[in-house]
Amino acid sequence: MYLEYKKLLIYFTGIIFILKFSKGIMKKILITGGAGFLGSHLCKKLLLEGNQVLAVDNFYTGRRDNLTDLLDHPNLEVLQHDITTPLFVEVDEIYNLASPASPIHYQYDPVHTTKTSVLGAIHMLGLAKRLNIKILQASTSEVYGDPAVHPQPESYWGNVNPIGPRACYDEGKRCAETLFFDYHRQHKVQIKVMRIFNTYGPHMQANDGRVVSNFIMQALHDQPITIYGNGSQTRSFCYVEDLIEGMYALMQTSKEVTGPINIGNPGEFSMLELAQTIIELTGSKSELVFKPLPQDDPKQRKPDIRQAQEVLGWEPKINLREGLEKTIAYFETQIPEHIGKIVL
Ligand code: NAD
Ligand code: UDP
Repeated sequence: MYLEYKKLLIYFTGIIFILKFSKGIMKKILITGGAGFLGSHLCKKLLLEGNQVLAVDNFYTGRRDNLTDLLDHPNLEVLQHDITTPLFVEVDEIYNLASPASPIHYQYDPVHTTKTSVLGAIHMLGLAKRLNIKILQASTSEVYGDPAVHPQPESYWGNVNPIGPRACYDEGKRCAETLFFDYHRQHKVQIKVMRIFNTYGPHMQANDGRVVSNFIMQALHDQPITIYGNGSQTRSFCYVEDLIEGMYALMQTSKEVTGPINIGNPGEFSMLELAQTIIELTGSKSELVFKPLPQDDPKQRKPDIRQAQEVLGWEPKINLREGLEKTIAYFETQIPEHIGKIVL
């Protein structure tokens, strides 16, 4: 069954590839962070669109397993490389996604996190400049910090603590945005800056400390659900398929469209509401336990997506319950006693 699926995927994308190749519109696309959560879904989307994909990753938080369905695909090349050093390749477009995204991972080696954002941006922008190609930056709602404006429009400049434990990520991403706009103004590089709000779905790491993966794994094991603070802080959760559609739509826009543009689901939930929904959907016996709130944890977050609606004609389609059901089904396959028995 699984092999049949793989064969079909290769067959189907092969036909699109040949059609595009014959019309001269087939592209070779570089994805940095291609083995990560979002990167692996983007690889699949771009292959399905009939492109060649070069996935570059240092495998810090990414896994080859995320690309299992695709590894035999003739149009996918995987290269182990750290973008804090230059990369010399010939491609037609770049999606720059490389960066750890969960607080425990980006705070583990904060200096390298900042280097990934800043040096990584410089290297990828340099490549885009030399090749005269479009480049998309995976920026983040963290550029708004602990926001004083709610919901957050792109025009809001944010409220970030520049010396706190989250700064390596938040300020790194802010500096990357600065570099993108300076390369655009100074060197005429075609840029697309996308501010991603909390995204969840299959291929998230079970142990990366993000709230959706933590709560689902805890619920599936009937373990206490760890609420940080009193659980009244809010986030807006976007299902990965919606997010990838928004990312792809932004890359297809004309050169005048630079962003920054928010992509996220405006449905806003407290962490208590999220925990209760996950307990209900998993039928778990878990109880709630309250732990200290991490320093600089934003109190609220919700994207203003009017620009995405107007400029891209994009809005999310999958609501939280539906997305959580799909994500829970994925995490059930990640529980050790199930590994090897489940056919994806
Ligand atoms: P992820 O950790 O699953 O993926 C990041 C990938 O980048 C991993 O495969 C990792 O190994 C790779 N990587 C990290 N540093 C690298 C380096 N120096 N060189 C090469 N590869 C490197 O995270 P994700 O959730 O897929 O996030 C992807 C991008 O989207 C990140 O830039 C992140 O900041 C951004 N983003 C994600 C979210 C979210 O909710 N998932 C929200 C906002 C922004
Ligand atoms: N959180 C929580 N319990 C957990 C993990 C996270 O209550 O086990 C909270 C965290 O304090 C934050 C929210 O969930 O308020 C989202 O955390 P996450 O790390 O997923 O994303 P970010 O803070 O980067 O938006």
